Amino acid sequence: MFNFRTRFAPSPTGYLHLGHAYSAFFASQMSEDKTFELRIENIDNTRCRPEYEEAIIEDLSWLDLNWPNPVRRQSEHMEDYQAALAKLENMGLTYPCFCSRKEIQQEINAAGNAPHITPNDPDRFLYPGTCRKKDLIEHKDKLDAGMPYAVRLKTDKAINLVGPLTWVDIDVGKQVARPEIFGDVILARKDTPSSYHLAVTIDDAIQNITLVTRGHDLFEASHIHRLIQALLGLPTPEYRHHRLIIGPDGKRLAKRNKVPTIRQLRAEGKTPKNIRDLVNFEYRH
Ligand code: GLU
Repeated sequence: MFNFRTRFAPSPTGYLHLGHAYSAFFASQMSEDKTFELRIENIDNTRCRPEYEEAIIEDLSWLDLNWPNPVRRQSEHMEDYQAALAKLENMGLTYPCFCSRKEIQQEINAAGNAPHITPNDPDRFLYPGTCRKKDLIEHKDKLDAGMPYAVRLKTDKAINLVGPLTWVDIDVGKQVARPEIFGDVILARKDTPSSYHLAVTIDDAIQNITLVTRGHDLFEASHIHRLIQALLGLPTPEYRHHRLIIGPDGKRLAKRNKVPTIRQLRAEGKTPKNIRDLVNFEYRH
């Protein structure tokens, strides 16, 4: 019998599909009363839509899943992320970055080395540190002119400050944290006041989550979350990174593969039990 406090944290950028349903069942099974904290990860207002949020909540209820109220909606807690950013800034661990994606690409090309890919961000490369090298006067002029910027973490400095860290995935054991694989990770974006990594780490602490469950595609993310916890003095939960639901074609279910949404399956007459069976048996590879 498991007795963890877990969460399910969908981003309302589309309808729930079978992969989400599996993740939600997984989170609920790890708690004694089969519930989880529900968190709506809607900081990115360029992609999130309220109608998806409503649909997600409706589909989760239809799947017979339960969670206590209030639901945490990230967009309502921006001050928590701002306070953490201010703390990291006061520790001298952040810097503003004015680079566009194109400029970063050009800088990498000019360096002539094979670029390193950042985990969980396959189309972006390890940041070459351009703005970190710029002198303060140039930055001050840009800040005074009101140019938008992202906030990046001085990851090497942060690692030196807190020393070696570990975290535990209860399926595969103790991990030595390797936040350096993210380079100077973004903590706040030009158009969103907190990055996924910062918001999720703070939220898991505020919601007293004792076991973070999520798909294996986010395994690496736990390395950087562990560093953020240490910097902000937050507790470290345990982790389980579950298998990803693979379609009959052997490809991971994702919106781009046109997987059936829970809505569509409902419209076809499937029951919540059918959905559980689908993800537990039919899609088990
Ligand atoms: N909002 C993320 C997603 O939809 C979940 C991230 C997490 O569970 O840490 O994939």
